[in-house]
Amino acid sequence: MPPFSELKRNRTCGQLRLSDVGSDVRLNGWVNSYRNLGGVLFIDLRDRYGLTQVVIDPKILAPSQFAEAERSRSEFVVAVSGTVNRRPEGTINSRLATGEVEVAVKEFHILSESKTPPFEIADNCSANEQLRLEYRYLDLRRKPLQENLRIRHEVALAVRNYLSGAGFYEIETPLLIRSTPEGARDYVVPSRVQKGKFYALPQSPQLLKQILMVSGFDRYFQLARCLRDEDLRADRQPEHTQIDMELSYVTPEDVWTAVEGMLAEVFKKVLGISIPTPFPRHSYAEVMDRWGIDKPDIRFGMEIVDLTGVAKGSGFKVFEDTIGSGGVVKGIVLKGGATYSRKQIDDLTDRAKSFGAGGLAYVLRTEAEDKSPILKFIGPAVKDKMCEVAGAAKGDALFIVSDKRLKAESILGQLRLYLGREHKLIKSGEFRCLWVTQFPMFEFNEEHGRFDAMHNIVSHPVFEDLPFIDEGFTSKLPGTDLGHPWRKARALQYDIVINGWEIGSGGQRINRRDLQEKILAILGIDNERADRMFGFLLRALEYGAPPHAGIALGLDRLVTLMVNTDSIRDVIAFPKTAQAISLMDSSPSPIEPEQLDELGLIIKAE
Ligand code: ASP
Repeated sequence: MPPFSELKRNRTCGQLRLSDVGSDVRLNGWVNSYRNLGGVLFIDLRDRYGLTQVVIDPKILAPSQFAEAERSRSEFVVAVSGTVNRRPEGTINSRLATGEVEVAVKEFHILSESKTPPFEIADNCSANEQLRLEYRYLDLRRKPLQENLRIRHEVALAVRNYLSGAGFYEIETPLLIRSTPEGARDYVVPSRVQKGKFYALPQSPQLLKQILMVSGFDRYFQLARCLRDEDLRADRQPEHTQIDMELSYVTPEDVWTAVEGMLAEVFKKVLGISIPTPFPRHSYAEVMDRWGIDKPDIRFGMEIVDLTGVAKGSGFKVFEDTIGSGGVVKGIVLKGGATYSRKQIDDLTDRAKSFGAGGLAYVLRTEAEDKSPILKFIGPAVKDKMCEVAGAAKGDALFIVSDKRLKAESILGQLRLYLGREHKLIKSGEFRCLWVTQFPMFEFNEEHGRFDAMHNIVSHPVFEDLPFIDEGFTSKLPGTDLGHPWRKARALQYDIVINGWEIGSGGQRINRRDLQEKILAILGIDNERADRMFGFLLRALEYGAPPHAGIALGLDRLVTLMVNTDSIRDVIAFPKTAQAISLMDSSPSPIEPEQLDELGLIIKAE
């Protein structure tokens, strides 16, 4: 075989067109498929750029080379040279960019052989995911995954270009850091040089990016790898990539504007889609009220309506008792839902119960009559008023839940999503973004009898809520006092939500040590522990920390959404399983006894 320098491609497998007819070309690639038609071989040659049909006629090739072509099988890597021909009439493949031409091969060489792959390298592959992850290098040859990684690259590039153009610097922060209090468990790395001490892998560059603000970098971003040792869910991986940003001398609005500009550019450049900016902005209280979830999918309506005012005084005990104890009566309307059968109602009721509801009341507004099991309790006037307030017209169904506010909202929010999917009310191919703002600062943790941060412990309180922070220290026990000032404090904390996915989260940060210490005290972290955990940030805050705010967007999730796939693993080159195992390289794995020894570590017997 000649040296590879003489066989090296001068065209790709996606390149040839009618205008190339008559040219002599060299192609390299994988055998995607082969056919023997009456002694003439037809091979579809594949590379990242596409497929090209090459024709191997024994009348043209040297017999030894024809023999090589004959023994080539799927996934062999081959080199061909030959002449580009127009395909004969009737054999044109309009689905292929190169489908009007083929290459009449004059020379054929096998560059590398392949065992029979454990699954077919096809767009639709039915092999189970375990096997595909084990042979990830083969899985990644498939076009959908090639395309996903191309889009991921385009997104990252558009992000970098946009942010650089907007005056941001990309600054790398270390992977070996001090354990930071981000909320999940750290992955830790033992130090050999400092025996008995450990680094942590960053859960995010949060504290370091704040320190960069103290250092004056003003506008920072990084495509940052974040590592969290937590139990995995479908859209989680032990390591994920964030588009991490931080800005100085700003308010949250500046962060939102920067992100809106960036996402508009990303969607335009990568998918050719214009997404309108600014994105709608809603407080946490409002989204819970209207959609019953803190990451609403606003691609369809069916907003939650408050029927408490109408239900009050209806005489129906269930409603009256709930309202009397501070609860609410709320509902959603399914357009055209009056045709719901007994069975559909029962199924939906079971579903509502699985979401925590005691039951599900309803009104079916059929042409003939309004059917409702609670009609005999509430009477026609209240029923009519409820339908009117809810906007339930003839032909619609009104579903009603009465419970404590957040619980009723959350049940209806989940029913809404279920009904939206079930009745295909959600338009695909559309991207609806919104900001959720002003989350509560704290959440009371019944189990521990104290408050936890609802989001980030570095988030600044809403300025007008600052007095609540001080008042809380002199107030009654937080567990028993539902009006406790700390329950009322809201944070300058925001999420960006696209199509019901939380794509990013951020906030205005605390830039004064005393305030940060107060927040930590509320969370039960005393000064000594705070100093141990992140004294470096607290000290930095004593040396002139500018007001700053930032955000981090999940790149993996964003790309998953953009390529419209179900799994975050489809947009990560080498993902791990739900058990945090990489099936391809079998990590995590034991290490050599000498390595343990060097690190001064002993593995405890089970
Ligand atoms: N560091 C935060 C996180 O990883 C995001 C942020 O507030 O910027 O969730």
